Amino acid sequence: MQTRLKTEERLVAKIERLKKERRAMIIAHNYQGGEIQDVADFIGDSLELSQKAAKTDAEVIVFCGVHFMAETAAILCPNQTVLMPDLSAGCGMAEMISEEAVRQMKKAHPNAVVVCYVNSSAKVKAESDICCTSSNATRVVESIPKDREILFIPDQYLGAHVMRQTGRALILYNGYCPTHVRIMTAELAKAMEQHPDAVVLAHPECTGPVAQLANHVLSTSGIALEARKEPRSAMIVATETGILHRLQKENPQKEFIPACRYCDCAHMKVNNLEKLLWSLEEMQYPVRVDVDVASRAKAAIDAMLALG
Ligand code: SF4
Repeated sequence: MQTRLKTEERLVAKIERLKKERRAMIIAHNYQGGEIQDVADFIGDSLELSQKAAKTDAEVIVFCGVHFMAETAAILCPNQTVLMPDLSAGCGMAEMISEEAVRQMKKAHPNAVVVCYVNSSAKVKAESDICCTSSNATRVVESIPKDREILFIPDQYLGAHVMRQTGRALILYNGYCPTHVRIMTAELAKAMEQHPDAVVLAHPECTGPVAQLANHVLSTSGIALEARKEPRSAMIVATETGILHRLQKENPQKEFIPACRYCDCAHMKVNNLEKLLWSLEEMQYPVRVDVDVASRAKAAIDAMLALG
């Protein structure tokens, strides 16, 4: 244990030194492992991370998250170097839809507006009219005139949540997050029975029955905010387990109970301190997006950002 801590301290010291030399900023998603969150300059959800990246004057952005997030940062920061410590960090949901599948949907619904969850590749965003995140999806859908058909891609569960919130009929793609669908109602109900005073916070990528058991359905940053505001001291959290590190650190006096103890996203967890250090040492691995794809994807991202 002592040796492991010493190794970790040495890695962190090297990362800190190289970060200054490279004029780099490390940003990490709420689902990253605790050791990565602790060394990051900024932790947040995918939209916050991209917005942070877009505003920084750092020359290098080391993006500890998954590929679609780093792509978004590269699109918003064309003059900076965006690095990923491990390019194999993909996303099960993003990989469920191709740009060709979107084109086919548009052919079948030529007058529809395509709303694309940011958990998608740049090529899929490039086929879309407007992006959304789990925190602003309802607002994005409400901004579209009522007489327009809407294709909502790729997450069917976020789409169904937006339908419940807005009362609008959306045409859903059948994608889902392989991590969030592992959160079962039976397990959640058991946790609720064991902690009858706890508040239940769920991410909208959870299945409908899980979301319907929750007191609040929120994005990861929404969960972090609610955890600070909530006067009750126990919370059952239905999302990827990485967020528990941040929640516990920010609210040491409160108790956070995972709705599913094994719901780790394998993609999020491929990053570690060694890979982060190598990334800074070797300036690896740069994330680049084709110029035409980037400009079309940026139009969809900008349409979302314009809503404020
Ligand atoms: S948690 Fe789900 S949506 Fe998020 S990166 Fe992992 S597979 Fe993708």
